[in-house]
Amino acid sequence: MNAAAWSKDEVVEADREYVIHSWSKQGGLNPRAIAGAQGSWFWDYDGNRFLDFQSQLVNSNLGHQHPKLVAAIQEQAGKLCYIGPNFAEESRARLAQKLAEITPGDLKMSFFTTGGAAANENALRLARHVTGRSKVVARYRSYHGATAGAISVTGDPRRWHAEPGISGVVRMLDPYSYRYPDRGEGSAVYEGGPHLEEILQYEDPYSVAAVILEPVTGTNGLIYPGENYLRSIREVCDKYGIILIFDEVMAGFGRTGELFACNHWGVVPDILITAKGLNSGYVPLGAMTVSAKISEWLQNNKFWGGLTYAGHPLACASALASLQIMEDEDIVANSKRQGERLGAGLAELATRHESIGDIRGRGLFYGLELVRNRETREPLVPFNAVGEAAAPMQRVVKAGMQKGLYLSANFNVMRLTPPLVIKDDEIDFALEVLDEVLTLAD
Ligand code: PLP
Repeated sequence: MNAAAWSKDEVVEADREYVIHSWSKQGGLNPRAIAGAQGSWFWDYDGNRFLDFQSQLVNSNLGHQHPKLVAAIQEQAGKLCYIGPNFAEESRARLAQKLAEITPGDLKMSFFTTGGAAANENALRLARHVTGRSKVVARYRSYHGATAGAISVTGDPRRWHAEPGISGVVRMLDPYSYRYPDRGEGSAVYEGGPHLEEILQYEDPYSVAAVILEPVTGTNGLIYPGENYLRSIREVCDKYGIILIFDEVMAGFGRTGELFACNHWGVVPDILITAKGLNSGYVPLGAMTVSAKISEWLQNNKFWGGLTYAGHPLACASALASLQIMEDEDIVANSKRQGERLGAGLAELATRHESIGDIRGRGLFYGLELVRNRETREPLVPFNAVGEAAAPMQRVVKAGMQKGLYLSANFNVMRLTPPLVIKDDEIDFALEVLDEVLTLAD
């Protein structure tokens, strides 16, 4: 930088005055100013260090400032920072080819965006064009992004403020049985297909273009489906010619201990949406990867979508480097191995902390559902709690931060999603801090 670096106070003052922060009333915000980051840690201007047990927004999968990733971006910047998406460019072409190789089944061509919402947005529009139908089935406990279409198919309360949203969105329930025992194994909702089938009968199955879902629900509670769920949803989609969209923006690229979450169940979507872990968030990037059949359809039909920054060379080069690092450093295996260490540690904490109601996770994609009472499963804070009502969860999160562990919570579920490069002693440190701060919820 040419200008002299700012002091902490200068950063904070300008931030408060001029930066609009996501999902917040701006008055009274007091964001901590961050001076730097390395690996799984970041630090503020006063030298306080924090273990990033969130991977920021579950995107810093390879940790901060990975030297090979930084070098790849620098190298691409020295070669070609930008060329319009109407040209062929090496990093873009290589990344699309690589995705065709590593994504499941016959997924083939990719359209690149600047993030997850834009990729979902394009998937919805493409599904409508391919099928000539308009309706979309989405789920309640979901988040698909903040643009018009993506927030409309989102279920969580952030959607309420964007309503009525795009037309034709129909919702189904989620395979979340912890607080709804009648939706357990064998029930229509838990098995997926029968529940979808019932909804389709009311909606006219041949008016439905797409079903969009997160194979493993992220922000809305870390929900893992049962063995048959995705397969039975797939079968119903096939029966009626409905396009199945898997949103793996959060769960993709090793987060769950498999390269893609849907690989756990061997089910392939027609459209796979990725972002975040695709390049560890070093440069904004999302991708929509479509089946061979849709790729074929696109040979004779126009793709009605485009972005100035579709397939930005810096983003594509960083994704190529990121995928190479994942292979070289055996990142998916580390996610699985450290996930087992974390899971075992959490199970042990549950023997001492009455507030732990449910532990859900695989790889490094864990949710800790906190309760007031294990018998009744009354949540520590109610669904959609804000302000004072959310305070019991926020106390735990805040105490973690004071002890050097960056945590976050959505209602009564604490999300534990460290970088996939995390090491044994860092997992152990997190478990020690959790052991201390969970006493505030017990
Ligand atoms: N889909 C899922 C599952 C997400 O978790 C997110 C963001 O958290 C998005 C989509 C939106 O992605 P972005 O914020 O990059 O637009």
